[in-house]
Amino acid sequence: MKKNLCIMLASLSLLSCAPGAEKEATAEFDYTVERFADLEVLRYQVTDFDELTLDQKKLVYYLQEAALYGRDILFDQNGKWNLALRQTLETIYTGYQGDRNTADWAAFETYIKQIWFANGMHHHYSSDKIMPAFSQEFFAEALKAADATKLPLREGETVEQFLSFITPIMFDPTVMPKRTNQADGEDVVKTSAGNYYDGVTQAEAEAFYAQMKAADPNKETPISYGLNSRLVKRDGKIYEEVYKQGGRYGQAIEKIVYWLEKAASVAENDQQRAVIEKLIEYYKSGDLKQFDEYAILWVNDLDSRVDFVNGFTESYGDPLGMKASWEAVVNFKNLKASHRTELISQNAQWFEQNSPTDARFKKENVTGVTAKVITAAILAGDCYPSTAIGINLPNSNWIRAAHGSKSVTIDNITDAYNQAAKGNGFNEEFVYSDVERKLLEEYGAITGGLHTDLHECLGHGSGKLLPGVDPDALKAHGSTLEEARADLFALYYIADAKLVELGIIPNAEAYKACYYQQMMNGLMTQLHRIEPGKDIEESHMRDRQLIAAWAYDLGKADNVIELAVRDGKRYVKINDYDKLRTIFGQQLAEIQRIKSEGDYEAGRQLVEKYAVKVDPELHKEVLERYEALNLAPYKGFVNPVYNAETDAEGNITAVTLDYTEGYAEQMLRYSEQYRTLPAYND
Ligand code: ZN
Repeated sequence: MKKNLCIMLASLSLLSCAPGAEKEATAEFDYTVERFADLEVLRYQVTDFDELTLDQKKLVYYLQEAALYGRDILFDQNGKWNLALRQTLETIYTGYQGDRNTADWAAFETYIKQIWFANGMHHHYSSDKIMPAFSQEFFAEALKAADATKLPLREGETVEQFLSFITPIMFDPTVMPKRTNQADGEDVVKTSAGNYYDGVTQAEAEAFYAQMKAADPNKETPISYGLNSRLVKRDGKIYEEVYKQGGRYGQAIEKIVYWLEKAASVAENDQQRAVIEKLIEYYKSGDLKQFDEYAILWVNDLDSRVDFVNGFTESYGDPLGMKASWEAVVNFKNLKASHRTELISQNAQWFEQNSPTDARFKKENVTGVTAKVITAAILAGDCYPSTAIGINLPNSNWIRAAHGSKSVTIDNITDAYNQAAKGNGFNEEFVYSDVERKLLEEYGAITGGLHTDLHECLGHGSGKLLPGVDPDALKAHGSTLEEARADLFALYYIADAKLVELGIIPNAEAYKACYYQQMMNGLMTQLHRIEPGKDIEESHMRDRQLIAAWAYDLGKADNVIELAVRDGKRYVKINDYDKLRTIFGQQLAEIQRIKSEGDYEAGRQLVEKYAVKVDPELHKEVLERYEALNLAPYKGFVNPVYNAETDAEGNITAVTLDYTEGYAEQMLRYSEQYRTLPAYND
């Protein structure tokens, strides 16, 4: 769906091909927090917070409060018993008097950490129910021994009764097995445990919204139907419970509005103030027309340093793809990294002119896209603890077409992934020798970020079709070839003296890190994400293998790249980086020709020969070696703590950051400090 696919997918391959960016690595900063189940919790650094003015710091402070106050909303959206479950587990976790050294206790601790991470009882990524590994007997005893006044007991309910209510919710795999069910042929509304519908069938929900759309006179500028509500059926009547102040989740929204009002009082400029005020208006009315007005104001706010997302935004959690989960991110522009993308864009015409493609395929007037690079200051709702490394909003198609979108990459999060991955054994296992490891260590992050910038800001926008060529001529192979074209543009130019001249790459050697990463990933390591026996499907993965395997073939006669064998293991070894650049240039020229001429047959042959099939022996080897590293497949973050210092009159005089809070500590504090909703919301 909506979020910038290129960037989003990059986030899936962080370990092996991480876009990063310039930064001063702070050796003392501890990026790792803890590891449990299939998860790893990291910590990110809010780089350059000190650069902000006091008013900007206040703005960040107020906005992060507005962000954290929405937490309970997401728990309830993810499932109607999640808040009660969280309260139950936290009561046991904090008050347990029994032996904390048993296997049952360890399993309980893992379980509560998983529930926190998922913002509910279903896995954040797979949406499958998380099953406890402790016994029901252990749980029953722990519950009965807990402080009953802190349990979410309903009017007149005994602990025994509550136990029989909560036990199947936790332990029975057939009760609410999936948060978002998208299986064909099933009633996906009835069979999804997410709390976006209550008492309605899929057919009823679809009919409800079809009728609403048909009745809307604004066909050109449609609202995002159903975005901010739960659809319920009561006494035979179907209606929306709208998320707004005074409506569903009103208690949480009231708090959010309170802090947004404070934020508006220190807005950087009138445009930003208008954005915040419109959002408040919308939170009060629940009117989706106002939400669109807000989105348009937001997309046009390009001058403010501080920016934010706060609201019902992405609809991945709704099986019908209409209703949005609540999320928030507060961020500010990374001036140094944004300067880099501006420089690249300003020189777009030079890059176009000097590329190795045929003159007939070059654009006369090319304008680079400036991607904003941001520093995340807080992650919340559906962006916490697990988050994307890029944001591309708004989602409304007509607003994107008429007003554009904001596309940003979150630099300090990428950086935290990179830093945390150091020493995880991956490079030791897969990189050929210390020479390449040193290159990656020194330049991997810089060139990774630069590769992404060149790909996004220049690659996709370069070149032109010959007159009369159908833009869809490459059909099913179009997106693989398009990604390959953008990647090759980046690979060709990352080795260009122009980048050293512009001062955005430190020297003429640094590009080698990117080349090594590209070849290792494309020929070998990305295979760890493919199940045994499967082909490569995803277009970015196809693109990477296409480039690598084809380059390998083109350089064979000169032994440019080899798969060296040592102790029975294979390693990528690049013998001639200069020649490899020439090969990338050749490939770029050919892919551009295929695109410009719409040569479907040539494109199909390349994709089928190089991009799809996997060498089963090599695949098996990569999977085994990767498995042995025991890396966590999913990662998330704890937030820093923002402290506001005030004078005698209560005016904020300074905002400081504290990074010492642990994972459980933070979750428990959030549950206490930012609790806004009752355990049951029906
Ligand atoms: Zn792309």
